This record gives sequence, C-alpha cells and structure tokens, in this order.
Amino acid sequence: MSLIVQKYGGTSVANETNIKNVAQRVVRAKDEGKDVVVVLSALGDTTDVLLNMAYNINPHPQKRELDMLVSTGEQISIALLTMAIHFLGYDAVSFTASQVGILTDSVYTKARILDIKKDRIVDELKKGRIVVVAGFQGVTRDGDITTLGRGGSDTTAVALAAALGAEYCEIFTDVEGVFTADPNVVPEACKLHVVSYEEMLEMSASGAKVLQLRSVEFGRNYGVKIHVRSSFVDVSGTWVIEEDERMERAIISGVTHDKNQAKITIFDVPDKPGVAARIFQALADSHINVDMIIQNVSERGLSDISFTVDREDLPLTREVMLKVKEELKAREVHFDQDIAKVSLVGAGMKTNPGVAAAMFSALAESNINIEMISTSPIKISCIIRKEQAETAVRSLHKKFNLDRVSRPHKESIGTGSAPGSQPANGLHQESGRNE
Ligand code: ASP
Ligand code: MG
Repeated sequence: MSLIVQKYGGTSVANETNIKNVAQRVVRAKDEGKDVVVVLSALGDTTDVLLNMAYNINPHPQKRELDMLVSTGEQISIALLTMAIHFLGYDAVSFTASQVGILTDSVYTKARILDIKKDRIVDELKKGRIVVVAGFQGVTRDGDITTLGRGGSDTTAVALAAALGAEYCEIFTDVEGVFTADPNVVPEACKLHVVSYEEMLEMSASGAKVLQLRSVEFGRNYGVKIHVRSSFVDVSGTWVIEEDERMERAIISGVTHDKNQAKITIFDVPDKPGVAARIFQALADSHINVDMIIQNVSERGLSDISFTVDREDLPLTREVMLKVKEELKAREVHFDQDIAKVSLVGAGMKTNPGVAAAMFSALAESNINIEMISTSPIKISCIIRKEQAETAVRSLHKKFNLDRVSRPHKESIGTGSAPGSQPANGLHQESGRNE
C-alpha cells in the first residue's frame, strides 16, 4: 500500500474548527487507500507564547529547558487531532518523538536528526491505524528532549517520509505554495508549480520561510517529493522535486529577502595564515551559522573581515567576537542589525550570463547601495540597508519579468483564499514562523 506523510502547520491547527478540518483531510487520504502518517506543529502561535514566557522569567534561559518547554506545544496538537480522527470513526494513535525514536544530537534548540527508529510507526500502520507524530522535537541518546529549530516540523515530516519510503510528503500550510516573491511585497508574484531541490534550498536559505532549510536538505538527499500546499484552499501547490529541463528554461525563479540578518565587521586583524580560521572556528564552536563572508584587501599587513549571521545569533556572536578581538588584538568590532539580504534564485542562471549585471543595475536604478555580494551557481545575494528591502524586491521582480515567467503557474493566483482562510503570503511568512 502506498504511504504518504502529511504535515500541518500551526495556523492549520490553530483552533478546534481547524483541527476538525485537518482530521477530515487526513481521513480522506486514508479513504483513498493510503497509509497516512501525520506530523503536526503546535497550535497557532503556541511556540512564540511559550518562548515569551520563558524570556520574561529568565532573559537567559538554558537551552535544554527551552526545548523541554516548547516541545510541549506539539504534544497538545497531536493528542487533539487524534481525538478528532477518532470522532470520525477512524483508528489513530499519537506519538511524541521519543516514543517513535527520532534520535538527534544534543545541540538544544537546533538539533539534527541522526536516526529514526521506524518500527513502532510501521507496526501501527500495519494495524491499519493513522499515525500522528509530534513535529519539531527529538530525543538524544540520553533521553533528553531536543527541538530542531523554528519551523522544524517540516524537517520531521520530510525525514519521516525518507525513513518510511513515502510516496511523497505534503506540507499543508497557510499559503498556496512557493511564490516568485513575497506577495505581501509584490502583489503580482506568481505561484511556482515546480521548483528543484537546489532552488528551494537557496530560497529557504535566503529568507523564504515556507519550508525549513533542513527539510529541503532531507528531501534532496533522499529524493523525497515535497508538495507545499494550502490547508485552506483545495488547489495544487508547489512541488519540490529533482531538477528537469523544463525548470532550466526559466532563468530566475524567485526573489527572496531576509531582514533577520546582522552584519559583523572586525577591523584591523593581522593579515596572516590562521586568522580567518581562528575567527570562524570560534563561531562554529558556538554553533553559529555564518552566511556571507568578505575580507578586504590588506593594508600595512592588516585587513578587515565582514560576515553575516542570523539576527537571533547576534548576542552569542557578540560574546564570541569580543573575545576573538582581544585575542587577535584587532582594533574594533562593529555590529549592524539594520541590514537585509535580497537574493535572486534560478536554476537557469548557470548557463545565462549577465544576470548579476542586470541585478546590480536594477538596484542602482532604485538608488540602492550594495554592501556585500555572494553568489552560488544558482543564486546571487546582496546585503543592503534594511529599509530598502521592499523596494529592492519589487525592482528585481520587475526587472526579471517574474510576473510573466514561462513556467505554468498562474491560474490560482489572486483566486486567493477560500472564505475564512488566511491570506496567501508566499515565500515569506513574517508571521508564519509557526507554520
Ligand atoms: N512549532 C514550532 C515552531 O513554531 C515548529 C514548527 O512550527 O514547525 O517553530
Ligand atoms: Mg513552517
């Protein structure tokens, strides 16, 4: 029998009515003859509420206790959904991550999945039951509870789909799919029907919050087909799959932006072997992900190094860098939160020259200064002032005619939302981190 994994985000299970609707969707898949594993996020903004309480009580909570706290959100939603499924007359059972053996490392709040013991799930499926698993959480070998980072239930879902050999993984959310830009910023943005894993990786890494980056990595590494779709509107969404020739025809697939970045510059470090290694090893030891890096041309044997990190890592980065500054006898470290990253992503960039030039001229035409640039074969990112992010996204979307890209994906745009549903807000879910 074919097996599918369905994941529902926070908005999709925000209240009793929504939970009952999700139960209907789940049993529909079961009626179609599929084995169904459901992964849930916490109800609505539960995770944010819990985190706020934690920081109100202690501004520096230990990460182990944070995970102990926020993992409770998902335990509530799985129990409630399972009851809703029972009420419809179907057999179902809920499990926490430790019950089904989602084993992680012990990097609290950002844990990585090491292994999934799937026996328990397989046994229950064999009994004909729908299996409902708590997303976002894991367990260490010592039995401690961990979480996989914000938005981590996407990763639980795709990892389970990989472990169980599911036919595909459906990610039900409050938007209709992946868009060419955030429709809140660019109303003409189009829904993409297909994107490759590589493109989605770049989009997730550059500000699209619709799928957690780690979940796309799992998808790519294990070839799990991912369907991002709305739980409120019954239309097909965006498929994230292996690249094919059709995709290469579109040079650019989307423009993303990320305002949750910070830029750090360390001035006058010695220009000699081992200095960069020292700085970035210190950051790595504190589990801080560094994104862009530039090193200036050196003068008098000294140079400056700038890099960016997620803004939430800024307090820790500050601690680390002040120590590194002393150690390297650098002149100064500067921390800047007023930046944004805008990125252009597209598989066709590999074979089409001139994309960077067109991007920079679009930004210049809007009077936007570029502070840092980084590229990959299918992405170009620029760091700019934060207040110019929206202008930049709109001018790039226009420059590359993304309201008219050649991929078929337009029909459901603007048909928007069914009554009572959330507005589609595409790539960026400023409020939708809970999804
Ligand atoms: N509830 C968690 C969060 O808000 C995990 C998720 O939604 O995927 O980040
Ligand atoms: Mg999410």
